This record gives sequence, C-alpha cells and structure tokens, in this order.
Amino acid sequence: AQVSQAEFVKSSTRTEDCPSDGLPEFALVGRSNVGKSSLLNSLVRRKRLALTSKKPGKTQCINHFRINDSWYLVDLPGFGYASAPQDLRKDWDKFTKDYFLNRSTLVSVFLLIDASIPAKKIDLEYASWLGQNQIPMTLIFTKCDKRKKKKNGGKRPEENVQDFQELIRDFFQAAPPWIMTSSVTNQGRDEILLHMAQLRNY
Ligand code: GDP
Repeated sequence: AQVSQAEFVKSSTRTEDCPSDGLPEFALVGRSNVGKSSLLNSLVRRKRLALTSKKPGKTQCINHFRINDSWYLVDLPGFGYASAPQDLRKDWDKFTKDYFLNRSTLVSVFLLIDASIPAKKIDLEYASWLGQNQIPMTLIFTKCDKRKKKKNGGKRPEENVQDFQELIRDFFQAAPPWIMTSSVTNQGRDEILLHMAQLRNY
C-alpha cells in the first residue's frame, strides 16, 4: 500500500463543490499545530505537497489530493486556533460538520491527536461529536517520538494515548482504531496506508 502518485486536485469551500468522481476518501483533521501537514507530507513522501493547503486562503478549505489515481486524502482546516474570532470558529464548525455528515464517499475521518501532551478538551469534544454522530473515525496520535516533559504533564506518549482512549470510551460502541505516528521517524506511516487500503476494500 504505497503512494506512487499524489496530486493536488482542488480546494472547495462547500461539500457540494468537492470532486464528484465517487472515489473513496479519508479526511485528516486536528487542532492547528498537531502535525497535520507534516503527516500528510510523510504519507506521500513529499516535502511540500501539503504546502498547497497552507497557502493563505486555502487553510479554510477542503483540500483534495488524489492518490494513485484511485482515492483521496482530504486535508480539512485545523480547528481550535486560540486566536480565531468566535464567528470564524462557528463557520468552521458548520462547514466541517456538514462535510462529515453529507460526504457520501468519506470512508473514515482520521482525527489527529498530539500524543506529547495530555488530552485537550477540544479534542475530546471533537471525538465525542464524531462518535455520537456515528461517523467512522480512526485516531492518529502524532509526535510519538517526543520524550516526556514536566511542562507537558510529565507523561510518555504511550500514557497520553491510553488516557485519551479511556476518556472517549463511552462515546463509541466499539473502540475506534488507533495508530501511533511520528513524522520525524515515519513511525506509523506504513500502518496508516495499510489501514486505509483495508478500509477501501471493505
Ligand atoms: P499543522 O499545523 O497541524 O499542519 O502542523 P505542522 O505539520 O505544521 O507541525 C506543527 C509543528 O509540530 C512543527 O513545528 C513541526 O515540526 C512539529 N511536528 C509535526 N509533526 C511532528 C512529529 O511527528 N514529531 C515532532 N517531534 N514534531 C512534529
């Protein structure tokens, strides 16, 4: 399950404007700074592909990347900018939730969680919303190469990963699949691609 071809297709501001060729897709979503662009680049083994979605004006869009001409990786806007004005946050909510609820070719949402820090309220709220709306979700823990630090709660990534799963357990009938990753060591990269291949073949 390797990526031999990756191309940016389009940025959309509404679910209706997304590509209509019916190819299956996986959406990457997470708090700003969680390591989403780094992960995207590591998945496609390119340094700069995800730059497209970091361009001014594109960060608030649904960005479609076609992989191997047969499926899409979708970069969604990061959430939880501390400085974002309230109405912008509301917009973000409305627009991504509409995408999750109405995008029929969406196979699974890949929710990125920073494993180097304790669970954040906004991440828990996000995961619980997906669970309550029965949107298929995979947990992608990022920055698993980082050592524990006192100022980050003093726990190892493995411990934060366990804590997070414990905290969201009640929102899911079955525990969501989860993968530990690092864009520094490429840990989890092949596992993600394999998992996506398996989900596509269901
Ligand atoms: P985004 O805002 O979610 O797209 O996050 P970026 O990919 O831009 O990463 C945010 C910051 O975290 C950058 O300083 C990255 O170098 C760092 N970072 C991202 N992934 C990892 C990782 O796996 N390990 C470590 N140690 N740092 C990471």
